Amino acid sequence: METLSKRLLSWASILEDSTLEQARTASGMPFIHPHLALMPDAHLGRGATVGSVIPTLGAIMPAAVGVDIGCGMIAVRTQLRRDDLLTSVDGGRELSELREQIERSIPLSAGRDNRTVRPTAEPRVAELEQLAERSGFDPESYAKHWRLQLGSLGSGNHFIEVSVDETDAVWMFLHSGSRGVGNKIAQRHIAIAQRLAKQWWIELPDPDLAYLVEGTREFDRYIAELRWAQRFALLNREEMMDRVADQLGRFVGTGIDELERINCHHNFTESETHFGKRVWVSRKGAIQADEGRPGLIPGSMGTASYVVEGLGNPLALNSAPHGAGRRLSRNAARRTFSRDELREAMVGIEYRDTDAFIDEIPQAYKPIDEVMADAGDLVRIRHTLRQLVNVKG
Ligand code: 5GP
Ligand code: MN
Ligand code: MN
Repeated sequence: METLSKRLLSWASILEDSTLEQARTASGMPFIHPHLALMPDAHLGRGATVGSVIPTLGAIMPAAVGVDIGCGMIAVRTQLRRDDLLTSVDGGRELSELREQIERSIPLSAGRDNRTVRPTAEPRVAELEQLAERSGFDPESYAKHWRLQLGSLGSGNHFIEVSVDETDAVWMFLHSGSRGVGNKIAQRHIAIAQRLAKQWWIELPDPDLAYLVEGTREFDRYIAELRWAQRFALLNREEMMDRVADQLGRFVGTGIDELERINCHHNFTESETHFGKRVWVSRKGAIQADEGRPGLIPGSMGTASYVVEGLGNPLALNSAPHGAGRRLSRNAARRTFSRDELREAMVGIEYRDTDAFIDEIPQAYKPIDEVMADAGDLVRIRHTLRQLVNVKG
């Protein structure tokens, strides 16, 4: 850990100047209490840095939560062993079948691929309808088909994996957020905060650091809708995980016993107490790492991922990194790497071999082992996962 200023502590040994500059700017906002914590996976984001923990007193910057409100990971440890999968493969089935089964059962988006709310999604949709009603807003005003977005993966680096840990136990592992409806909610409140800043002649070092002040109507609306989107994201992951379990069970020909389920946000705001004050903690690309709390840290499509346990480091506001973090922008990665290099990085992993994933090549991310070394006083590693199957959005 390095103290960069009274307002900025950093755990990142790999850090671009532009990222540091951005974090410094955010840490200078007057309502930061006590300091901004920069995680090992930190990289440039909109307004606030991805891989940062931003505690604020009496205000929230909507861009500091990220536009994919509630984005995160879910993992399930099953009773299956590596051999159970490979026996199916020896029996003449291929892992590509499992991958395609998962791809067919989980749409990337609402619409053509997802025309009706599936029975498993019904109670989840009902819960969200009630929550919206209690919160006094209509999600349809953001996305007419939000119900069909529940259970859809999204694109980019949202993914589903079937992996094995160091004991050969089989895990299902999945990354997704609050989809189109959450994105619309985020964009709307960022715009409201920016309009208010103009209205009150507030000068901001970056328009994406616009904030809402506690006690105002706009703040209350934001919190209510933010909480809804966070819940949506969590249920979205649950819904997809149930479908992955179903497909995995079909593939191996037995039911799946869930020995452990971890559902962990990494774009999230919650009210917490730190250094004697109740603050709003926004973790933008960071996970909660209270002492003993389980967490998930993915690496990349071709490297290890980790199941961790928080160490409750107070200086890091009980937080940890949410992944490896990008080292190269998507464009730079496309310019730098080829499809052959991606194939080389993916040897032994069943994935969809396409140009579309060149910008997701492991080398486009920071080396996950360095990130985990930086995180040594934030989390303890419980399991190391290696993927057998990767499905990308
Ligand atoms: P973000 O939430 O910021 O979009 O990304 C989360 C993290 O997921 C990235 O920083 C990266 O470390 C990791 N990641 C991206 N793609 C994959 C993938 O296909 N598989 C795994 N296991 N991790 C990934
Ligand atoms: Mn994410
Ligand atoms: Mn996301």
